[in-house]
Amino acid sequence: MSEIKVALITGANRGIGFQIAKTLAKSGFKLLLNDLNPNEESLAELKKLEVEHEFSYGDVSSPAYVEELFALCGEKYGRIDVVVNNAGITRDNLIIRMSEEEFDQVIAVNLKGVFNVMKEAAAKMLKQRSGRIISISSIVGLRGNPGQVNYSASKGAVIAMTKTLAKELASRGILVNAVAPGFIETEMTAVLPEKAITELKGQIPLKKLGSTQDIADIVDFLASDRAGYITGQIISVDGGMNI
Ligand code: NAP
Repeated sequence: MSEIKVALITGANRGIGFQIAKTLAKSGFKLLLNDLNPNEESLAELKKLEVEHEFSYGDVSSPAYVEELFALCGEKYGRIDVVVNNAGITRDNLIIRMSEEEFDQVIAVNLKGVFNVMKEAAAKMLKQRSGRIISISSIVGLRGNPGQVNYSASKGAVIAMTKTLAKELASRGILVNAVAPGFIETEMTAVLPEKAITELKGQIPLKKLGSTQDIADIVDFLASDRAGYITGQIISVDGGMNI
């Protein structure tokens, strides 16, 4: 990789995305961060840490916006080394109660959003003949979960796209991998009732939820020179839940 390393992270102003941003910054990456809306707390923290970054606000499900996002990356840094597809949403419901809107919203962000970003990233990285594309899938995309037919479909599709793109881009030095977190302590899981959390912990061999740092650490490794012979892989970080 070049001396200046640039990472673009989607959905980066809280939760797993923000932790990935801070971790890649510590590893020397300059950052282009995307999210829907500004988050003053995260902005203040990045300022304090003196992390070189720029935020761009917009919806990854819009191809026009994602094109603008990569154009901004080109203008600011002149290259892109690592792209992390992290933005994601849930709209949980049992299938008989799930509305078409709930299904479409999740597919638009978690699947089409990843496609939009992968497409732009591939175009830029093919010219450079190098790059890493890392997507945050989910354990739910590997083994399903009641009430998440929309979310599990989107995360399963991210796994399939990761494998396909790894094959398409390997000959140009572009490595494509995904991380499949189990249940991680963020605002996404904070909405689960206490009883559900206790039941979940019972199903996890390590008997606890994961931290955002657990996910950031594996992304940091996949983004590094140490992971140069890994592509098309789905790395589970789930306390053993998917054994
Ligand atoms: P989170 O706390 O809900 O954060 C998601 C971030 O994505 C938010 O900053 C959100 O912005 C942003 N976002 C949502 N829609 C977007 C869009 N259309 N365009 C751009 N940004 C958008 O979620 P998290 O728990 O950190 O999860 C991060 C990723 O890990 C997701 O893909 C999730 O599916 C996956 N994951 C999480 C877990 C878990 O247990 N937490 C487990 C497996 C996989 P706003 O702040 O504006 O809403």
